[in-house]
Amino acid sequence: MIKQYMSAMGVQDKQYHKGDFKVNSPIDGAIIGNVTLDTIGAADIKIKNANAAFQEWRMVPAPKRGELIRLLGEALREHKHDLGALVSLEVGKIKEEGLGEVQEMIDICDFAVGVSRQLYGLTIASERPGHHMRETWHPLGVIGIISAFNFPVAVWAWNTALAIVCGNPVIWKPSEKSPLVALACQALFEKALAKFGDAPAHLSQVLLGKTDIGNALVENKDVALISATGSTRMGRLVGPKVAERFGRSLLELGGNNAMILAPSADLNLALRGILFSAVGTAGQRCTTLRRLFIHESVIDDILPRVKSAYETVSIGHPLEGNLIGPLIDEESFNNMQSALKKARAAGGKVFGGERVLIDKYPNAYYVKPAIVEFDEQNDVARSETFAPILYVMTYKDFDQALAMQNDVTQGLSSCVFTNDLREAELFLSDRGSDCGIANVNIGTSGAEIGGAFGGEKETGGGRESGSDAWKNYMRRQTNTVNYSTNLPLAQGINFG
Ligand code: NAD
Repeated sequence: MIKQYMSAMGVQDKQYHKGDFKVNSPIDGAIIGNVTLDTIGAADIKIKNANAAFQEWRMVPAPKRGELIRLLGEALREHKHDLGALVSLEVGKIKEEGLGEVQEMIDICDFAVGVSRQLYGLTIASERPGHHMRETWHPLGVIGIISAFNFPVAVWAWNTALAIVCGNPVIWKPSEKSPLVALACQALFEKALAKFGDAPAHLSQVLLGKTDIGNALVENKDVALISATGSTRMGRLVGPKVAERFGRSLLELGGNNAMILAPSADLNLALRGILFSAVGTAGQRCTTLRRLFIHESVIDDILPRVKSAYETVSIGHPLEGNLIGPLIDEESFNNMQSALKKARAAGGKVFGGERVLIDKYPNAYYVKPAIVEFDEQNDVARSETFAPILYVMTYKDFDQALAMQNDVTQGLSSCVFTNDLREAELFLSDRGSDCGIANVNIGTSGAEIGGAFGGEKETGGGRESGSDAWKNYMRRQTNTVNYSTNLPLAQGINFG
């Protein structure tokens, strides 16, 4: 099956059948490829080549650069099913979510094409006569992308589509758990390049490897921006290293996302919101709903319904119509079990969470999503476990719920279900949610590309995708032009 998708997208057999690094499918543990990992030396050469590409690409007019991304969007449209299925096979996303991820790539390409004609700066009133001020945006340099396994292709597209229209080459170090989809994306980029014609070599390159190869990008002063998506643990290592060499970083790290379910909420809507956000992608989204604060007056109406929905949700092969696929690997399963053990020790009432389908898939890890009821928020609920565990707590008044929601180190996504306008607006106000994403009557996951995506606190502070996130990939310059015959100084200074 893999061969069919790979060759349709232009990836040659030898690219994923000749190396000594095994790629396993989380669906059944089978080996689906053997790739060759890059060496540090190879990484350095790729970075040099990218810099050479930068010298040329920055001179190409931005709308023309946009044309390349338009062609990439076309290639993605043509191969949506191939790439979507490959995402399912390599990281275990269900079919709909694999396709959704590719659609997100197409959407960001469309968006970036528009941006390529809107790299607007300001004109600024000068305090000096005969002077004019403006702000211009210039290409930044080589963009290093480090990505996580759970959005194995969309994160590349979010960064690449914008970086390329902004005049920069990209080098991508995908997760070591998903090298095949990276080879496929690179092949699709090359298809677009072939149609585009005259572009420098090495505009987009892939670096396969583990932490050491990611680190080769991080430490290289010729990489202008490191856009790193992954755990807070990774960001804590990467951020200071990039800062030490005065590079730029865009960090998209762990989340611990919450919903406040108020007494006035439409419970049918909330139920659907909870289900998709908490168990979608088997709880392996950075925006997965992990903490649910329910008003004490409605908990008995909603929690039994959530539990029965959990009982009926189908778990199994992601391409066979199920709603929950496997966890990525054994380590992830162990982390989940260890979190549940701690939750029990902390007095939590655990529902679900056990491994299933062991006979059918002895080398894969399928689990029932778990619900843990806590009397109050504790350190177990405050840490992110990248698996389907939903911690449920009750609250009495809205301020208390808000305080509990914000009482974590992460700040990615949040939502409130309420029909009370005051609560909704308070939630979105200066003293409301402290997250990068705050929604009303929508769950925590499933963002559109049009908005800036990212979070505060230990989520890293980065913003990518829509809105003005393109500014991350450019350097800002302030210009003052004197078209008079005098040289007045600012602040009225008279220098002799
Ligand atoms: P991870 O941190 O283990 O790995 C992410 C990437 O970083 C991989 O490519 C890995 O090789 C690389 N890496 C790890 N340590 C590194 C180092 N010291 N130097 C350079 N590179 C290094 O994360 P994961 O398990 O793949 O993904 C799950 C995590 O990612 C969760 O915490 C999730 O919340 C987070 N995530 C965040 C976002 C977001 O937008 N905020 C999106 C997706 C995933």
